Amino acid sequence: MTAFRSGFAAVVGRPNVGKSTLVNTMVGTKVSITSPRPNTTRSQVRGVLDRPGAQVVFVDTPGLHKPRTALGQRMNESATSSLDDVDVVVAMVEASGAVGPGDRMVLTQSALRVRSMARAAALRTDPGPGAGAGDEPGRPALLVVVNKIDRVGGNGVLTHLTAVSSVVEGIDEEAGGPPTPVEYFPVSATSGEGVEALIEATVARMPEGPRYYPEGMVTDVAEAFWVADLVREELLHRVQDELPHSIACRVTEWEWPRVRCEILVERDSQKGIVIGRNGATLKEVGTAVRAQMPPGAYLELFVRVEKRWQQREDALDRLGF
Ligand code: GDP
Ligand code: MG
Repeated sequence: MTAFRSGFAAVVGRPNVGKSTLVNTMVGTKVSITSPRPNTTRSQVRGVLDRPGAQVVFVDTPGLHKPRTALGQRMNESATSSLDDVDVVVAMVEASGAVGPGDRMVLTQSALRVRSMARAAALRTDPGPGAGAGDEPGRPALLVVVNKIDRVGGNGVLTHLTAVSSVVEGIDEEAGGPPTPVEYFPVSATSGEGVEALIEATVARMPEGPRYYPEGMVTDVAEAFWVADLVREELLHRVQDELPHSIACRVTEWEWPRVRCEILVERDSQKGIVIGRNGATLKEVGTAVRAQMPPGAYLELFVRVEKRWQQREDALDRLGF
């Protein structure tokens, strides 16, 4: 059996290029966000893609959303190791219209960042010289997405691909050394054309790792992660002593105002603890969480026994248990 692969993919691009649409298409969610936003979203997670044997967590990287940041500063930042936290950068532009200054900045920042990630990865794992290009599976990569190809003809797509690749080539020329590990994907996020190739490339780049989020969790709704967190928090306030490290919460449906959240426990005995006498504990938790959600929320809580949680310390740590 091959090892589970997982990792993080940053999705960056100017506003309106189709980032949300693409992530929705990739993770296959039908969630519609019609809720008023809670003023704190704790998570930058946009969506989680589950494939057999693999999981990709798509995240926002606020730093890359501010193209007005000076390039020099960005180059400095891209040299710091904290930016090695993602495995893949998905940089999006749209095929309709020219490659503008905003797109250039996104591509430049992304390429610089991936170059620094690739360098760090090479230092960590390379047996020696000659393996520097970094385009093997499990290595950092820049995946450039040219979106909205449904809006332009084949020639328009080609012209655009040429334009974006010359931006990356320009960076390579200037920087010298191994070229940026990069692949290009013409897609239509709305029709889905080209998206499977992008997914496969992303999954192929993932290193070995744990399942970071429960399979089947609702995705692309920062609020869903937030609500799952609230449920876990309120529950732990009440039953912490009895349930060390053994519960996980995930929102499985988000049809505002109806939100369904599952509480996963390891054993039947724990299920009883979570529910409480005559359902009292669960009821209290529901009330406490609803009080923190926008008005009108209808929160359904379910408790499920899921035995494999106890074997996944790595995932539990990551989920903050
Ligand atoms: P974001 O700001 O980058 O997250 O962009 P959105 O995902 O919100 O999309 C912005 C607009 O572009 C929306 O109206 C989408 O419907 C539209 N859009 C996104 N992808 C495509 C596409 O592939 N083709 C077309 N024609 N429109 C798209
Ligand atoms: Mg968006």
